[in-house]
Amino acid sequence: MEDCIFCKIIKGEIPSAKVFESDQIVAFNDIHPKAQVHILVVPKKHIESVKKLQETDKDLIGELILTAKKIANDNNLAGYKLVVNVGREGGQLVDHLHLHLLSGDANMNSL
Ligand code: AMP
Ligand code: ZN
Repeated sequence: MEDCIFCKIIKGEIPSAKVFESDQIVAFNDIHPKAQVHILVVPKKHIESVKKLQETDKDLIGELILTAKKIANDNNLAGYKLVVNVGREGGQLVDHLHLHLLSGDANMNSL
């Protein structure tokens, strides 16, 4: 957790291009964008991955998705993808739960 890059961003120890912040959630631009819009929506609480989610995290996860929706609305995104990678085999590289908000590319419908 001390070495967690997203915890460091949340604490302001590493710079980021923040687009949203609330009590429980922060959102910032992905440093290596894979679409025209690529925002990471991140709970401030350090949860490693979906694998570590507990019943008590229900409200937080609801808040995470509602926050992604709010950011999408605020940015007038007509359509978008919300992606969560789970575990190395699922493409997760940063072990702090996060939602990818992706939009704006022509190949958006390829999945
Ligand atoms: P994942 O593969 O789902 O764990 O996604 C991790 C994402 O974090 C990748 O898309 C990276 O480009 C992004 N990332 C890594 N370090 C930073 C950083 N310092 N600021 C913003 N995004 C980052
Ligand atoms: Zn963390």
